[in-house]
Amino acid sequence: MTVVAKEEIEGIGVEFESKKAQEIVNWALEEYDPNIALSCSFGAEDVVLVDMIAKIRPGSRVFTLDTDFFFPETHDLIKRIKEKYPIALEVYTSDMTIEEMEKKYAKELYSTDPDLCCQIRKLQPLQKALSGLTAWITGLRRDQAPTRANTKKVELDSKFGLVKINPLADWSPDQVWAYIRENKVPYNVLHDQNYPSIGCAPCTKPVKPGEDLRTGRWAGKGKTECGLHPADNPGKK
Ligand code: SF4
Repeated sequence: MTVVAKEEIEGIGVEFESKKAQEIVNWALEEYDPNIALSCSFGAEDVVLVDMIAKIRPGSRVFTLDTDFFFPETHDLIKRIKEKYPIALEVYTSDMTIEEMEKKYAKELYSTDPDLCCQIRKLQPLQKALSGLTAWITGLRRDQAPTRANTKKVELDSKFGLVKINPLADWSPDQVWAYIRENKVPYNVLHDQNYPSIGCAPCTKPVKPGEDLRTGRWAGKGKTECGLHPADNPGKK
């Protein structure tokens, strides 16, 4: 892994704050390809970025963390995305099957200890996905949650020692959906059924009109993040 200079990235972060998403994606791919990948859970922001990177640099790397708990609608979207875009999709999974995890810890671990479940099914595969990378691109937006309010467009991810690029940091949900419509980007049909944020099936519920966008994630569990984007990461969300 390339050692990334903190001061240099902070300087770029300030300079790039006023740049458009496509300019940032273009710069990032020029600068770091092939040691850069888009982290994609196939949410609305992620499919926007798939569309952008496939147009800017066909064949770019995209990775997803398959927890074995995806909705069928998410699998259907992945199929449509693969058919439409020339991307190099990498799928990372946990070393443990769901059966092995439940045998070792507890049945329905996502209910009894969602942090441990996320650690096994998301964080562990993420470490494999980030191995060898210098930079990663995410679909984080500042208004998704208070924990994401300080997201920079380019920042140093001190947890993983990588450059983290968040081209949509200042986008609103309206901008995301306008881009999807204008560019005819495939999206998860669950978004049309009051699921603004889609993760694993056991931990994702639809929200009521006016509710916070991420209310449907880990509802009633006092948990708002899976640990991929920790709020206690200095300089991060
Ligand atoms: S979101 Fe839920 S099911 Fe998915 S890894 Fe985390 S706790 Fe497990």
